[in-house]
Amino acid sequence: MHDSHIHISMSPLKENISEDMYEFTSSNGKHILIQTTDISNYQDSLEIYSSLSKGYPKVADLALGIHPSRIEDCVTKNNLEGTEIFKYAQKQYNLFKDFFEKNKEEISAIGECGLDYYTMEQYYNFSKETKEEIKEAQRRIFSKLCKLAVKENLPMSIHARDIRDSDNCVKDTLKILAKEGNGLIRGSFHSYTGSIKMLSQILDLGMYVGFNGIITYPSGGNVREILQNTPIERILFETDGPFLPTQSVRKKKNAKKKYGRPMLIKEIIEKASEIKNIPFEKLETITDENYITLFMKEDRP
Ligand SMILES: [Zn+2]
Repeated sequence: MHDSHIHISMSPLKENISEDMYEFTSSNGKHILIQTTDISNYQDSLEIYSSLSKGYPKVADLALGIHPSRIEDCVTKNNLEGTEIFKYAQKQYNLFKDFFEKNKEEISAIGECGLDYYTMEQYYNFSKETKEEIKEAQRRIFSKLCKLAVKENLPMSIHARDIRDSDNCVKDTLKILAKEGNGLIRGSFHSYTGSIKMLSQILDLGMYVGFNGIITYPSGGNVREILQNTPIERILFETDGPFLPTQSVRKKKNAKKKYGRPMLIKEIIEKASEIKNIPFEKLETITDENYITLFMKEDRP
């Protein structure tokens, strides 16, 4: 088993990490890829990564990135407008780059990064103009991260989330990947919930797709269909913990742990094995190989 997308510095994962990693590795859990979202969690994540690497050698990998939704968060908090938004985006990138250069040896991937046109519509009240500026700021940061991925030959963990019945966000993401990557960027579209039409373009670009607890939800029909249409050699599993606990955890009223944690990968693979009609062990073995191919650095000590 592997968990290719987890935010380990977030509560309550952070406080339970020893227990949760023990549980995962005792059940054939082999790899986790720790994701970061901005400067507020780089140092914490690096420290947790380092301590995990001592207890469980070669189990944890670290990704460094800027989550697209960090932009609207900050625009709201600081009342940013127009060029201030772009200045803020540049500042975020500078902080990222500085941390990246200092800790390059430890970093296996660029992530979480990408574009998000959903959150700004769903949870905020921006003017039309501000929304366009936020999108542009997200695209500028993502372009820079793609350039860096090419230069450093690192895979990416990509977030691309559209509003309902739109493909614009995924289209823009693919456009940037194609332009900056020239076919050289490797990566995973994490928690992809878009259309089947765009899925084939994602796969054509050589990308992997990360599936999480959503496939276990009654409402997850769309993502189950995406899984059906994704070939086994492009499938990765992830919890997106501490978010998206699986259905069995959500259903249990008095569950001790209500958050996404690495062990829940087992339930996700069980469900995927049903959907794909592939035995659990086969699915586990092949997708673990996918993880190694995409995310593990060959020269890692
Ligand atoms: Zn995430």
